Amino acid sequence: MGTKFNKIVSTQMESAAKKAYPSECCGILVGKKSEKGEIEITEIREASNQFHGQKSVHFQINPLFVYHLEQEIEASGLEIVGVYHSHPDCPAILSKEDEKYMVPGLLYVIMSVKNGEVVDVKSYNKTMPLRNKSGVTKSPA
Ligand SMILES: [Zn+2]
Repeated sequence: MGTKFNKIVSTQMESAAKKAYPSECCGILVGKKSEKGEIEITEIREASNQFHGQKSVHFQINPLFVYHLEQEIEASGLEIVGVYHSHPDCPAILSKEDEKYMVPGLLYVIMSVKNGEVVDVKSYNKTMPLRNKSGVTKSPA
């Protein structure tokens, strides 16, 4: 499964991360998924960090923002393909909390920001739950 980022998208994400520093930035990745599971990101939508508390280690996206975005992009044949956020002064690896809220099928991009500069960008996805023979959905251990 591959992911295509165009240069404009990468630049927009990075500038959002720099602007939010030392808080976490967050937003939605909009694009298309092919039948083969390839993701093409065509644009990003910056969301405000709704977390009430320490915004340098947490982020929260308003569900209404996501809902309205879905309605808006549906007409143009696009969909929400992922979520991005930044880790100010921390490596671009998933935190326990990030892992907890991951949804299968979505791409998660994390940017590490140090001294206001993006130093690393990594993307993750949660594997789909496995199905056993009886058809009961089980998550991998
Ligand atoms: Zn995180």
